[in-house]
Parts: sequence; structure tokens; C-alpha cells
Amino acid sequence: MMRPMSKSSAEIADLLFADACVATCAGEGDPLARLDVRARCSVATAGDRVVYVGPREGAPTARRTFELAGASILPGLVDPHTHLVFAGNRVDELSRRMRGEDYRAIAAEGGGIASTVRATREASDDALFELTAARARALRAFGVTACEAKSGYGLSLEHELRSLRVLRRVDEAGLLRVSATFLGAHAIPPERRDDRARYVDEVVEEVLPAVAEEGLADAVDVYCDDGAFTLAEARRVLTAGKAHGLAVRAHAGQFADLGAVELVAELAGLSADHLEVVSDAGVAAMAAAGVVAVLLPGAWRTLRQEAPRAERFREAGVAMAIGTDLNPGTSPTADLPLMAALAVRDAGMTIEESLLGITTAAARAAGFGGGAGTLRVGGPADLAVFATPDPRSLAYGLGGARASLVLLGGRIVVEAAEPLIW
Ligand SMILES: [Zn+2]
Repeated sequence: MMRPMSKSSAEIADLLFADACVATCAGEGDPLARLDVRARCSVATAGDRVVYVGPREGAPTARRTFELAGASILPGLVDPHTHLVFAGNRVDELSRRMRGEDYRAIAAEGGGIASTVRATREASDDALFELTAARARALRAFGVTACEAKSGYGLSLEHELRSLRVLRRVDEAGLLRVSATFLGAHAIPPERRDDRARYVDEVVEEVLPAVAEEGLADAVDVYCDDGAFTLAEARRVLTAGKAHGLAVRAHAGQFADLGAVELVAELAGLSADHLEVVSDAGVAAMAAAGVVAVLLPGAWRTLRQEAPRAERFREAGVAMAIGTDLNPGTSPTADLPLMAALAVRDAGMTIEESLLGITTAAARAAGFGGGAGTLRVGGPADLAVFATPDPRSLAYGLGGARASLVLLGGRIVVEAAEPLIW
């Protein structure tokens, strides 16, 4: 795969991004060293690979050169937590919540996730794909080239499979690299509200095997919390998913600490997500098992919760990633750099940690290998250019950091957005 760094590579470079300020996110050591910011650095690609990172003098000649003095390059950003497939919106619900109604009370009477399930089931296949594709393009506009994305608004055999097929279509259409997660245990569907045990049986005995059979998911997830799934139910679903060869993750400790973090650690899972409420023992278990903490500022902001404290994860040696949690109820956003900026303000992450949290740590949480989330020779030609001289501006400005150019697998998929003003 890796092309040799010899003179012969000069003849095969396709694109040269010249003289930018590059954050490779491929360094070693503390977060500052790992971010690895290099002034007047050039990046060349050939096909779908990066073939050169370094000073312009040593760069290969390319078919097309972008002069980027005054701009920054980062690896294509990675969003480690999205609910990309759904129809409808929940603006009315937010309006009610802001008038004082409780999220879980609204959910208990058929609002919340259940209302999105209704809208999603009613949408045609093509309508659902177009809505999902539009969100993929929205993420891309902010420099995202890869994301984790979940089912979980279908909640039946037919509709969960359909949601996962939509995600596969997004990936195959080259809109984004998608790591798909089966989240049948997102909520109890309306038709099973009086028989939750039957629904969990269906998830484990019918839907999961069908998902695995069709190869539609990379991971399994469960929403383990008050008003969602119990720890015992989560254990059944995640254990079954793991037995089918899926990676494990969980929505854990958003409102109550039911022990899902320890469960994910026990199952050697990739990530535990939310973590507004998590015990010291849970954090220690994550550290011991190498589970990534995925922080979701959009959700804690919308729900007006206190953010997790980054220092707890930092001190324990737990890697931190940041996601949009793109979903219609609690985080309707595709602005991943804004999430990094909020994680800095609310959770106390450093700017460097936050940028690693939407690149390398996010790639690890989402299960992307092969150098995703870094800029390195031999790695994927996925990168994002921002019209700012300092890549740290992504987490400095509060929102709106659209990429001026996005390269995905060596293809230019976004070009010429409004320049950043920071
Ligand atoms: Zn979520």
C-alpha cells in the first residue's frame, strides 16, 4: 500500500496542497506533540493515498497544485457518534421542553424518540436516503470525511435493516466513510410498550442475526439509562452483538449511571458515549480496557446538563473523542468543530485534546483503522482545508468553521466555502 518516498513518486502525485499550516494528528507523546502542527508544510496525494507530508522543497510535482499559504490542513475530521438516518424534526418538542416540560416525561407519552420512529417508518426509501445524504453532505461541509452512524429510529426488523441499508448506500455512494452501528435498543417501539421483554427478545433473536447475516453493521450499541434499557437488557444485547462479531459501544451515563460503562469495558468495547454521570470505578474500568470516552456537547447543551469534566478522563488516561450526536431530538447539528469548541469551554478539554478528539481519538472510537484521522504517508487521502492560518482556530471560533476544500479518498468533494474569519 505505502508508496516509496523516492523520486519515482514525483511522477505519480495527483494533488499538491502547498505551504499550509498542517496539523498531522500523527505525532507521539502529549496532545501538543500528537497534534504535530507544522508551518509551511505541503501534502501530496496520489490516488486515494497520501504520498508526501513535508517541506515544499521535497514535495513531488503534481498534476494540480493548491497554493495554501495562510490556510490550514487537518486530516479529514471524524465524527464518532451520529444518528444520521431519520425523518422529521422535533422543533415542537424543544419548544415544549424550553417551556419547562421534562425530556423523559415527553418521551413517556409517545414523544421524543418514538415520534421520530413514526416519521422515519413513514418515509419512502428514497426520501430517507435523500435526507441522510443531505446530512452527510452537511457534515462534509465542516470537514468531516468519516463518521460513525447508527440505526435506531426503525425499531423493527424491517425498518432497522432499512436504516442500515441507507447507511451502506451513503458509504457506497462515496458521500462519507460510514462505520455503521446497529442501535435496535435505542427505545422500546410504540407497539411493544407493554411488552418490553418481547422487544428485547426480538432485537437479540431476530434483528441482530439478520443484521449480521447481511453484514450491515460494524458495531452494536444500546441506550442504557433511566427510561431506556436496563443494565441487564444492555448486557443481553451487547453480548449477543459481540457474539455476532460486532464491536461494542453504548450510550452510557447520560442521566443515570447504571453500570453500562463497566459493561462496555468488560466486553472490550470501543467507546462509551455521553458520560455526564459516571463513577470513578467506571472511568478506571474504561482506562484499563482502552475504551474511548465520547463526549457529546450538543446533547448536554440542549438538555442543559452539566458537562462531564475532561480532567477525570485525562487523569485516568482515558482517550477523549467528541461527536455531534447528530439527531433530531437533542443535537440537531452537523457542526463538528463547534462541538470541539464547546468541549473546550464546557468540559475543560484543551484545544489540542479537542482537535485530537475529532480526528485520531474519534477514528479509534468509531473503529476506523488504517491511519484514519491522521495525515501520514501511506494513509488515506482524506483531508480538510480551512481558511485560517492556525488550525487551532477550529476550536477557538464558536461555530461555522466550514472547510474550504475537502478531499475524500483522493477526490475533491467540497471546494470553495466562505472563508473563516478567525
Ligand atoms: Zn446518541
